[in-house]
Amino acid sequence: MAQPQILILGPPGAGKGTQSSNIAGEFGVEHVTTGDALRANKDMDISDMDTEYDTPRAYMEAGDLVPDEVVNAIVDEALTTANGFVLDGYPRNIEQVEELEAMTDLDVILSLSVGREELIGRLTGRRVCEGCGANYHVEFDQPAKEGVCDECDADLVQRDDDSREAVENRLDVFEDTTVPAIDHYRDNDVFVEINGEQQPDSVWADIKGAIRRTIDG
Ligand code: ADP
Ligand code: ADP
Ligand code: ZN
Repeated sequence: MAQPQILILGPPGAGKGTQSSNIAGEFGVEHVTTGDALRANKDMDISDMDTEYDTPRAYMEAGDLVPDEVVNAIVDEALTTANGFVLDGYPRNIEQVEELEAMTDLDVILSLSVGREELIGRLTGRRVCEGCGANYHVEFDQPAKEGVCDECDADLVQRDDDSREAVENRLDVFEDTTVPAIDHYRDNDVFVEINGEQQPDSVWADIKGAIRRTIDG
């Protein structure tokens, strides 16, 4: 069979990035993440797209969604060239769900569930590697040496949008706009809900089992 095409859904801070790295390593698929792609292109000129701001930066720093036109193009391009993928951070609204349906089929749809209080703690304590993008947490996932990445020795920093204020807004956007998009997938045969409040290893064991069952079954 061709490499699996996997979608991972869930609120900001649910562990999508952390678990997508595990999935990419175990199943040999590409990690396609709109968040990382947009962070690498924060200052791209989108003024020809008739949007409120001229670059993605202002949307992202406030924790608002970047316009669909920008994000759809990134995903379309990435999925066309990938041989198997785990898609993380997309779709985030109903329009994006429809775009994705027109682009590709999905073999497994994972949805990580985590409560709001836990998410706030995870996001405000998150640190990311400037070099390779690996995720850490000041309490739950510390590097061997404080402030330094285990993988590549680069510095760990806090994302601009992991401030308390931007986090609250991102969680509101999630509840108002992304939950209806996730609900769209609930009746799908390959939809699997995963308890994301467990320890990272237990979350991973559940995800690995769900993917194996779906692609073998
Ligand atoms: P997302 O990509 O969904 O926003 P991340 O994978 O970046 O989420 O995780 C958010 C933060 O929570 C990171 O600091 C990460 O180290 C931490 N984290 C991830 N999974 C867990 C878990 N199961 N328990 C506790 N903390 C976690
Ligand atoms: P999270 O930790 O919230 O899962 P991401 O890294 O996925 O964060 O996204 C960071 C920011 O990038 C979002 O708050 C939003 O501004 C923008 N973004 C990412 N994916 C999308 C998308 N599918 N549609 C619109 N904006 C997006
Ligand atoms: Zn690193």
